[in-house]
Order: sequence, then C-alpha cells, then structure tokens
Amino acid sequence: MARYTGPVCRLCRTEQKKLFLKGERCKSDKCPLNKKRGVPGKDPKGRAGKRSEYGLQLREKQKLKRIYNMLEKQFRLTFERAQKMPGITGENLVALLESRLDNVVFRMHFAVNRAQARQLVSHRHILVNGKIVNIPSYQVKAGDTISVKEGSKKLVVILDALNEVAKSGTAPWISVDVDAQRGTFNALPRREEVTDLADVKEQLVVELYSK
Ligand code: SF4
Repeated sequence: MARYTGPVCRLCRTEQKKLFLKGERCKSDKCPLNKKRGVPGKDPKGRAGKRSEYGLQLREKQKLKRIYNMLEKQFRLTFERAQKMPGITGENLVALLESRLDNVVFRMHFAVNRAQARQLVSHRHILVNGKIVNIPSYQVKAGDTISVKEGSKKLVVILDALNEVAKSGTAPWISVDVDAQRGTFNALPRREEVTDLADVKEQLVVELYSK
C-alpha cells in the first residue's frame, strides 16, 4: 500500500483531533482545527452521528497510526510485538511506537514533525551510537545516543527545529545537548509520561486487533 501523500491536515480533520503532523503551524491560529472546520467530505455532518463500538476502535487505531506516520502493516507488526512483551499490551504498544528511531529524532527536536524526522533518517543524516542508521522503524534502546552526522549539522531544517528545545523543552525520558546536536534516549517512557497521547485510548486498538 502506498504512503499517504494527500493534505495532512485532512487526517486531523477526519479524526477531529490535532495530530500535530506539521510543526509550528499546528500550534498557530492557521491550524484548520482552530477554525472549527468539520470532517472532510461532501457531507461533513454525515459522519457526525453516534459511532459503533467497531467504529470507535477503528478511529482510535487510525489516530495512533497517523500520529506515528505508519502504514497498516508496520503498525500491526508493532502491535504483535507489543502483545508478546510482558505487561499491558496497550502500554507496550505506546512504548514501542515511542522508541522508533524516526519518533526519537522528532522528540529530540532534530525535526519539526515525524515525517521530516523519517526523511532525515532515511537520507542518512542520523547516527545511533556513532553509526549511521537509515531505518526509520529501528528500535532505539534505553541508553542509546542519537546524533546528527557531522556533515549535516548545518542543515537549516535541523537548526530551525532545534529552536523548539528552548521553547518547550524535551520529553522526560530524553535528554538533548543542543550545541552538540546529540541526545540520549534514557529509558522507555511510561504510558503516563506520554502526555500528548493522554486522550488516546490504546485499549481500543487492543480490542480491535483481538477480535
Ligand atoms: Fe493537524 Fe497540524 Fe494541520 Fe492542525 S495544522 S490540522 S494539528 S496537521
């Protein structure tokens, strides 16, 4: 299945939730969700009715998948890995999604959104423990050091994105040295630490895939 290449704001409008797929624009008044635009389509009210149990589970899965910029197959495989881990499957799923290399690059503010982070990784700008890794789904482990390749440190996209560290800091499980363009993934995040997913109900995804 091809990667979605349409307008990303449409994805947020479908979910009627800010998925923060763009960067600065998401926090500004230009975000279409701030303008209370309805769901996309000819009849925006047509999908506003009560959703079935399946519908709710499906929407929750789509939301998570879109936040992490993943295709169905990758997402399903990640879920299956989460199922095999000890502990609560939904929480394991979030921890696995958070430890994807593209997500960690985004969390360290080397990119303004996960799509840009994915591109930085696949274009070989990112090192894990000093070695180039160009696989966006690579699973980062606790204690791994992620850095920008020496020759890429002057890239405007990275320098611009790093400004965000000064404005909003970093996630509690991550530390970043802005000048060195290097960060450490200190530990797998606990579910309650991932505050931007506070209203995502990953248990519904577990129920959907367990049918
Ligand atoms: Fe979503 Fe950001 Fe577009 Fe707003 S600006 S709809 S949060 S991608």
